[in-house]
Amino acid sequence: RQEQYRALREKPTRSQDGVDVSLYLNAGLLVDLPHIEETGADGVGLFRTELQFMVATSLPKTAAQEALYRSVLEAARGKPVTFRTLDVGGDKVLPYMSMESEENPALGWRAIRLGLDRPALLRTQVRAMLRAAAGRELRIMFPMVAAVSEFDEAVAVVQRERARLDAHGHRAPTSMSLGVMVEVPSLLFQLDEIARKADFLSVGSNDLMQFLYAADRGNPRIANRFDPLSRGFLRSLRAVARAGAKHGTPVTLCGEMAARPLEAMALLAVGYRAMSVSPAAVGPVKTMLLSLDVAEAASVVEPLIDAEDGPSCLRPALQAYAAKR
Ligand code: PEP
Ligand code: MG
Repeated sequence: RQEQYRALREKPTRSQDGVDVSLYLNAGLLVDLPHIEETGADGVGLFRTELQFMVATSLPKTAAQEALYRSVLEAARGKPVTFRTLDVGGDKVLPYMSMESEENPALGWRAIRLGLDRPALLRTQVRAMLRAAAGRELRIMFPMVAAVSEFDEAVAVVQRERARLDAHGHRAPTSMSLGVMVEVPSLLFQLDEIARKADFLSVGSNDLMQFLYAADRGNPRIANRFDPLSRGFLRSLRAVARAGAKHGTPVTLCGEMAARPLEAMALLAVGYRAMSVSPAAVGPVKTMLLSLDVAEAASVVEPLIDAEDGPSCLRPALQAYAAKR
C-alpha cells in the first residue's frame, strides 16, 4: 500500500473528468514538513502554530517563533504554507499562562477572541510571521472567527505590524494573503461579506460540525450520533464553496473530514477543489480522486442533498454510489 501511494506522488492530482484538485497537509511541527516531499502534497494548508506553544515550558519569545516559521517556510521549498494564528483556550491550555477556568471552554475565551483581547500576543506572532516570510509569500488565517468585524480587527493588527516593519526598513513578504477559518456557524450567515473581504476561506469541519450540531467533538458517547455526510452539514459546506466561487475567493477544507475518501468524494461533489489533510491521508484521497468523475458524482450527490425527505444521513447512499462506480 505505502509503495503504491509513493508511486502516486508525481501524478497530477486530477480526476477522470479533468478536475484539478489541490491537496495540502496539516502540520504543526517542523518534523511534519518532510511529508510534503514524501506525499507530493501542494504545501501546508494548515500549520497549527499552537503546537510550539503547547510543547514549550514558557511562552515562546518572538525570536523563537520567527525561527520556527522561517524553518517551516524553508522546508516547504517555495510551496505555500498557511499559518494559523494561535488557537489556544478551550481544550488547548498553556500551563504557563494563567487562565480562569470556564464552564464551557469550547465556547469561551479562546483563539481569535483571546488574540484580539490580548493584542500583544497576536501582534508578536504576526510580527514573527512577517519577519520570517521576508522575500516570500505569507499566508495567515484566523481561527474561530464568528463575526466579520473580528476579521477586520485582526487584519488591522497585521497591517499595523506590516507598516511598522516597513518603517524600520525590514524586507517585506512578496505577497500577503489573510484568510478566515469557517468553523463557527454564525459565519454561514455572513458568507457573502466574509468571502468578499477575506483572501481565502478554510473550513474547519471538526469545529463546524461540533458547533452546528451542538455535539462535543471529544465526547465518545455522541461521536457517532451525527454524521458529517448528512444533508444539513453538506448543505452548509456547499454554501461555503458556492460563496467562494461567487466571489472568486479560494476555499479549502482542513478538518479531519477531508482525510476520509468517501467524505472527500462528497466534498468534491459539492464544489471543493482544495483540501488539507494529514500526511497519511494523501494517498487514499488521491487514489479516490484519480478514479472519480467529479461531474457525475455531483449529479448523484446534489439531488440527495436537495431532497426534502429520505434519511438525513446520506452515507449509505454515497457508499452505494462509490461501490458501483
Ligand atoms: C477544525 O476545527 O476542523 C480544524 C481544522 O482545527 P482544529 O482541529 O485545530 O480545531
Ligand atoms: Mg478548529
